[in-house]
Amino acid sequence: MSCIFCRIVAGEIQAEIVAREPAATAFLDVQPLADGHVLVVPRAHVPAIEDMEPGDAEALFRLVHRLAGPTRAAVRAEGSTIGVNNGDATGQTIPHVHVHIVPRWSGDGAGSVHTIFKSGTRRPVAEIGAAIRKALGTSADIQKGLPT
Ligand code: 5GP
Ligand code: ZN
Repeated sequence: MSCIFCRIVAGEIQAEIVAREPAATAFLDVQPLADGHVLVVPRAHVPAIEDMEPGDAEALFRLVHRLAGPTRAAVRAEGSTIGVNNGDATGQTIPHVHVHIVPRWSGDGAGSVHTIFKSGTRRPVAEIGAAIRKALGTSADIQKGLPT
């Protein structure tokens, strides 16, 4: 087993673990971007979100939800940026899914998620929406409101 995060989950490598559940574990990032920078990982070794079993994805986000408040409270943060580098092209360095929870304070100098992206869109929004619905196998009818 060469994956660092698998080895942390298995207890083979030391980490500052803050929560452990059957399908997900949370520990502090070794090179924190801010005090309280937590990584939440699934037990199963999968590189990308889309590779996860639905139940594992649910367990992962449940733990993110469980940790968001206490992590913020522990370092008296005003908010947090929660994100995933999902795939090599995004700068993901460890090919085992991990959710970053990074505490934030107003005026901390870091930007919002929007500041990551320099370029705008190239294709019409409606065209992209149709392409995603097709890939999902959903009908254009979902654009209509639910019956009341
Ligand atoms: P990525 O760039 O893949 O989204 O984030 C990987 C994160 O894992 C980085 O923030 C890095 O500091 C953290 N990291 C890398 N190796 C270790 C390790 O051995 N222990 C811990 N706790 N964090 C690690
Ligand atoms: Zn792994």
